[in-house]
Formats: sequence, structure tokens, C-alpha cells
Amino acid sequence: MWRKENGNICNAKAHPLRMRVLRIALDVPVAKIFEYLIDGATPVEPGDRVEVPFGARPRVGVVVEIAAASSVAASKLKRVERVLDGAPRLPAEWLEQMRFLSSYYQRPFGETVAGALPARLRSLKPLPKRAKSAADNASEKAQPPVGGHAPNPAQARAIESISVALGAFRPFLLHGITGSGKTEVYLRVIAQVLARGLQALVLVPEIGLTPQLEARFRRAFPSSHIAVLHSALEDTARTHAWLDAARGDASIILGTRLAVLTPLPRLGIVVVDEEHDASFKQQEGLRYSGRDAAVLRAKLAGCPVVLGSATPSLETWFNGGAGRYTLLTLPERAVPGARLPTVRTVDLRLESAENGLAKQVLEAISARLARGEQSLVFINRRGYAPVLACESCGWAAGCTRCSARLVLHASAERGREPGAGSLRCHHCGARENVPRACPTCGNVDLRPLGRGTQRVEETLAVLFPAARILRIDRDTARKRAALARTLDGIGRGEGDILVGTQLLAKGHDFPNLTLVCVLNADNALLSTDYRSAERLFALLAQVGGRAGRREQPGEVLVQTRYPAHPMFRALMRHDYAGFAASQLAEREGAGFPPFVHEAALRAEAKKVDSAMMFLRAAARLLEVPASVQIYDPVPHLITRRAGVERAQLLLQSHSRPALQEFLRLWSAALPASSSSGVRWHLDVDPIEFD
Ligand code: ADP
Ligand code: ZN
Ligand code: ZN
Repeated sequence: MWRKENGNICNAKAHPLRMRVLRIALDVPVAKIFEYLIDGATPVEPGDRVEVPFGARPRVGVVVEIAAASSVAASKLKRVERVLDGAPRLPAEWLEQMRFLSSYYQRPFGETVAGALPARLRSLKPLPKRAKSAADNASEKAQPPVGGHAPNPAQARAIESISVALGAFRPFLLHGITGSGKTEVYLRVIAQVLARGLQALVLVPEIGLTPQLEARFRRAFPSSHIAVLHSALEDTARTHAWLDAARGDASIILGTRLAVLTPLPRLGIVVVDEEHDASFKQQEGLRYSGRDAAVLRAKLAGCPVVLGSATPSLETWFNGGAGRYTLLTLPERAVPGARLPTVRTVDLRLESAENGLAKQVLEAISARLARGEQSLVFINRRGYAPVLACESCGWAAGCTRCSARLVLHASAERGREPGAGSLRCHHCGARENVPRACPTCGNVDLRPLGRGTQRVEETLAVLFPAARILRIDRDTARKRAALARTLDGIGRGEGDILVGTQLLAKGHDFPNLTLVCVLNADNALLSTDYRSAERLFALLAQVGGRAGRREQPGEVLVQTRYPAHPMFRALMRHDYAGFAASQLAEREGAGFPPFVHEAALRAEAKKVDSAMMFLRAAARLLEVPASVQIYDPVPHLITRRAGVERAQLLLQSHSRPALQEFLRLWSAALPASSSSGVRWHLDVDPIEFD
């Protein structure tokens, strides 16, 4: 049929260079695969990048299929300009991964493909050239990681279980308390993967953890080519790392969630460290879970995947309990003699906390100073004070573009008047000067309320004038390299008192740190988000896990007004399993994940009413199957963000396929985003509701 209709160009006999139809993914915001023609002589395969005319300018597309025929008249199809070279062909397995992610997270295929490529591969510019690196995989022998410890029995069991599973898909949950030697297990297993000539993909959270882990991997595998991938890399570096991975030149790929989207021709194992971490979930565009994508990736590649954590996400723990994941446990700290820290609550109802620090906490810090040990004061809030308020009329400084409060930041130098600083919005980045007087009543006596890292640092400097105090938060650690240097310094004993946010909580190994003080845990306890207890437990276990990683015992003091809260009880006993069981029972009773599957439809508009109206109409748009439940729309907690008002509605279902099918029909039926002044997106398996 097709040949007859388009005989003028497609008759194979008359034209040895018979035209073929290429189905091509383009980065345009419509869920469509585009068709182009290419002559028969040009070698081309699915996975090749091509230059095609599109509208006014040429674009880069990715060939996903070579079709025998087109539903469109060939005379209407344009021709591919050229096949681009320089990058390896994208493997079928990678295209399969993109197909799955695009359909599961309800985003156009072309956008999904383009979003997974570094900017340079989406452009028509020639790729940067580089000589092949000296590290050559063929020379890698079955060597254990350099400088490793002889595994203890629990580690040996874990290593053995994973090793025998190499070569086939199998998900493992490596549940090991902080400092139990999980990284050591990864390194040993990876050594075996490298010995087979295969690649290892290691995913880590977004938060400043990469430098330390990178250094550890480089020490362990000095002759291996390690590619590092994260969002803070500049273009060329990212392109090189990506190409090294995709060509198979790099044998270890260490990166944040986006690394899971890299083509890897010889993938032999996937590791997700701190798998519970919220930063594995992308919060824009393709809202994928890097952890879930990692499991999918391993399945497609036919290799094991190891999800490691001291405090697994309840989803993963549930999968472990259900036997879908093989559970491996490291119950003890790996360094002989090192023990988990003693955790105690400091009851703020009985003990007043002048300047935010209870007497017990100050005494504990003094004792560490006297012994030459380090203390960590943890407060999950940067800046000087979270609120600047007028006590005579109740005014509080708020962002004009968001419905959030502005946070008072002191100027850089210590000891300046807080008025010399600025007001900053932690949601949209807006900055304002500190007003001299209350804008509503003219009162000049504006008060900072509450405290952030800067204020705690200031207080400690007054109380312990001889101590070296280091503050680590996103304001002091703008640059990764600088943060890495600071963290190394702390590891070598620099700094007596560390004041920090969660930047300091995760993964780091500070041998001389024996005390962790948590100042403001209660905010999270009072949150309405059903995930907040899980998150707080994980955070406190992580931050507490920094203490006592060597022979000296560690101590964790948590200031709270709710010392009897079951979360603290579990934390004091280091009873993750007990905590998880009670949380899962609550979730099951209340009908929350992992017992149901969720998706959110979010709308943004100039007025919250328009967003709400859009959502109400959306809920009535299609007949909803009985297995899917749609809830009423609600404005976000912080309704206005960066000048737009936001609302969302939640969908739940016990059946993932039913929810998926409904989302597919629904997103096709909804009016194009931003067509009527309302922008919308779907978030599948959402984890943030603010
Ligand atoms: P995790 O990743 O579980 O937090 P790490 O792998 O970082 O734990 O190990 C914590 C500390 O224990 C590190 O200093 C590491 O060198 C050490 N360690 C790991 N395994 C052993 C072992 N088998 N014997 C002695 N020390 C070990
Ligand atoms: Zn006032
Ligand atoms: Zn703002």
C-alpha cells in the first residue's frame, strides 16, 4: 500500500536508495514521535542521534525505530539532514528504560530522552574531543579494593549473597546501622564486578556526599576509570563523564540520581547508597525516583541492585518484608570496639534552654572541649532567625512573591548587629533589606524570633570563646570543593564545635566526634505530613550516627518537649525495625503508601482560585474507575511560591496498573498545560506536599 502510494520515491526497484521512515524522539512538549525520511544508503540504527529540520531551525533527535511504512504521505515527510557522530549509539536497553520512565511518570517520550542527555548531546555542536584515558579496563584483575579491611562475619555474608547473584537481576536491601561497613561491602562486590570486565553504577544523595565517597572509591580502585556525574558539574565535564560511561571506558560511575539515566553498555551492578534519601526524587520535569529507576535499570540489565541504608524508606522495608527484596543485615559497627551512641532526650519542659541550648547540652559540650573531642550541634535551619517580627502589632516579615516567612540572615562577619544582614526567602531566593521599622506600625524594635545556624554559632562563640567553631550549611558551603575541604579538615580534627544542618548529617566519618546535640526536632514531630516521622527518625539516626565512630563512646542529646513520643523511644533503643513496624501499621490503617499508590495533580496560576477551579474541573473530566479515588483539591501549604499560587489534588489506588491507566487517559484529556493561564503537572509517587 504504502509503496504504491509513494511510489515516486519509494519504489525499491526503480530506486536502489530506497527511502526509509525513521521514527524520531524530539524535545518538544508534545507526546508524539515524529517521522522523517532517510535514504537507503545512509547507515542508521535506533539509538542514533540525527539532525532534522523542525520549524525554523534544525534540531537533534534520537532515532527510536526504523519503520517499514508511514501513515503519513511520504511527500509530507521531511528528510533527515544527517546522522550525528561522536557519541556511541544509545543502546536498546536504554531506550527501553526511557520508554518505561516516560510512560510511568506521564511525560512525553521526546522530553524524557532529551532530559537524560547532557546539554552538549542535545546540541548540534561537535562533541568535545579527548584522548582515550590511560586507565584500561582490560588490565583490571580480580583484586580486592586497596586498603580494605578483612570483612567481619556479617559483611562476609552480605558480600557472599550479592556475589553469587551477579549475572542476573536481583534486588537486595542492605540494612546496616551507621558505621556498620556498608561502603566496605559495596567496594568488595564492585571489585568482583570489575574483575568480570563489567561496569558498576553507584548512586548517592545530592547532598555534598560525593567528594568523600569519591575519594574513598579512588583510593580503593587506583587503576580504575571512575566517572563522576552530578548536577553541579559544568557542561564539558558532565559530557566527558557521560561519554566515558556510555562508551564503556569508565568502569565505575558514581553520581547523584541523574547518573541512573546514563547508557552503560556493560552494567554489572547498581548500588543506591542511603536509598531512603528524599533527594533521589526529581522534583521537576520528569519526576522520577532515582531509586526506583535504579531497580528498573538493574532489571533491564539483568544484574543485582543493592539498596543500602541504616533507615530504609518504608517502601523498601515493606518490599524486604514481603520477600521481594533480599534482606541483608549488618547489625554492628564495623570498627572493633565502636558502639552505637547513647541517645537521650533533654526535656525542655523541665529544663529551660537559654539561647536555645539547655544546660545539660552546654555541660556535655564543655566536657568534650576538655577532652579534646569534637561536638556537633545540629539545627536544621540556616540563617540567623526564621522570623523577624514586631512585638507591638504582630507583623512578621514575609516574602512578597511567596506566602512564606522571610528568614533573617546576619551579615557574614560575626558579631555584627543582625540589622546589618538581609531577609531571604528560602523558597524562591528573594532577598530584601531589613526594614528599620515595622512597616505597619512604625515600631523600631523588631525582634528576631527562633534561631538558625548563625544565631547558634553566635551564642556558642560567646559561651565558649576559646573553642574553634565551624558552621556548615548551604550558606557557608556554596562550592562543593570548599565543602569537601572543610569536611576533610573536620575528619582530621579541625574545629571543636561544629554547627550544621543536614549537610553534616549524612555519611561522613569524623573519628574524633563524640557528641551530637539536636536542637529543634519538635517542628517535624508536629507536621501533618505522614512521612515526617519516618524522615525525622532517619535524620536523627543519621546525624546521631556521626558520634562515636571509633573507640570513644558517642552520645546524642535531643532537646524536645515530647520526650515520651514513641519515635524517640525507638530512636533510643536503635530500634529501626520496631519503628518501621509501627509506622507501617499506622499507614496500613490510614490507607497511605506503601499500602496504596499515589499520584498528585498540581496546578499553578496567578490566582489560587483559578488553580482550584482547574483541579475541580479536572476531577470531573473523566469517569473515574472505582479502583481509583480522587480527593478534593487543596492549596499547597505554602500556597504562593515565586509569585504563582499553587494547589493540588491527590489520587490513590490499591492497583498500580489501574492508577497508571487512568493517569494516561487523564493527561491526554486535560487541556494543554498553561493554555488557559493554568500550568499543571502530574507527580507519580509524590513525596513532597508543601
Ligand atoms: P557505613 O557505610 O555503613 O556507614 P563504612 O563502610 O563507612 O560504614 O565503615 C565505617 C568505618 O568502619 C570506616 O572507618 C571503615 O573503614 C571501617 N570498617 C569497615 N569495615 C570494617 C572491618 N571489617 N573491620 C574494621 N573496620 C571496618
Ligand atoms: Zn508593628
Ligand atoms: Zn519567596
